Amino acid sequence: MKELGVALIGTGFMGMSHAFAYRAVGAMFPHGPRARLVAVADLTDQAAHAAARQYGFEAALSDWRQAIHHPAVDVVSITTPNALHKEMALEAIAAGKHVLCEKPLAPTSADALEMLRAAEASQVVTQVGYNYIQNPLLQLARDMVAAGELGDITDFRGIHAEDYMADPEVPFSFRLARQGGGALADIGSHIIGMARFLLGPITEVYAQLETVVGSRPVERGSAQRRAVEVDDVARLMLRFARGCGGAIHANWAATGRKMHLAFELTGSKGALVFNQERLNELLYYRSGGDSRTAGFVRIEAGPQHPPYANLCVAGGHQLGFNELKTIEVARFFDAIQGGPKNFPDFREGWAIQTVVDAAMQSSRNKAWVTL
Ligand code: NAD
Repeated sequence: MKELGVALIGTGFMGMSHAFAYRAVGAMFPHGPRARLVAVADLTDQAAHAAARQYGFEAALSDWRQAIHHPAVDVVSITTPNALHKEMALEAIAAGKHVLCEKPLAPTSADALEMLRAAEASQVVTQVGYNYIQNPLLQLARDMVAAGELGDITDFRGIHAEDYMADPEVPFSFRLARQGGGALADIGSHIIGMARFLLGPITEVYAQLETVVGSRPVERGSAQRRAVEVDDVARLMLRFARGCGGAIHANWAATGRKMHLAFELTGSKGALVFNQERLNELLYYRSGGDSRTAGFVRIEAGPQHPPYANLCVAGGHQLGFNELKTIEVARFFDAIQGGPKNFPDFREGWAIQTVVDAAMQSSRNKAWVTL
């Protein structure tokens, strides 16, 4: 299969990133299929036509169902608000189309499970947009943990902090509604997914969720305000199946932080430190050397870290956010073509959602929750 027809639903922030990845994937990963940009859908004809012109889609539609059922479409990208993911994904799966759905997979783990079951009962390949773990250096970190290079892992400290909700005048949006909103689901799910990617399943959670901005304008500049229905800050304590503990913090009102998705991973023989704001760097401390020169070494991403070389032949030139999305699409396309299994799929998207749900339950009941 040399070409896959793509339908993109939603043309906002992530719609643009998906469009970038589909345009780039054939050039950067020439062994795999190319994308044919068949149809783009948004709420209005105007938005769909603007995106079609900008990204080069053949058809512009204001009905997402028509995009899914277009005969030339093999793959559907869902980049709409969280509460719409389930209905759109189920329709695409029923039509036999492969699905790349943005995170979080669904507002609740029950919804995510329904999507997972539909996908696994079909022949379609699924992918969830946890793009940060597609970073070649995250793959290296995972390999180092798996190979025992850090010894026994004793602690994980993860955070995802941004400040796009710090201003109390940021208006109400889908992110602030009970159905699929909240800092924990929106950004906490990324660091939960990263923790699982590096260390495996989480078995116990204790959490405290807090709303720090109680109401927001119904639209920008409006004097009318609507009560916020979700958390702005989430603090989680964790236990992993492998035996170690950890902590995760999610905060979307973290003044000054733009993309502080970061972790420190401590082992008996070494440690790793990562921060998405410097995504081409991984800090590595190895125990047992000469104490005079001991310290964290900065590993810089380069062609020796697959698949960096597909995107750039020279080290130090740096990959970016949209290139992580391109790697995600390349692996998704490979799997559709019968190549290695892609990750994270709907099963992993559901598993991440069970941790989110457990944290919400723990916060309500002020008690540990076993998964
Ligand atoms: P956005 O508001 O910028 O874009 C959403 C788009 O969906 C808009 O163009 C909107 O008009 C469209 N839309 C809404 N209802 C629709 C419908 N019924 N039919 C067709 N189009 C419809 O939002 P966003 O920031 O792009 O977020 C979208 C999704 O992407 C969310 O699930 C979010 O969690 C996820 N996201 C992921 C990342 C990441 O790093 N992977 C980053 C940001 C957002």
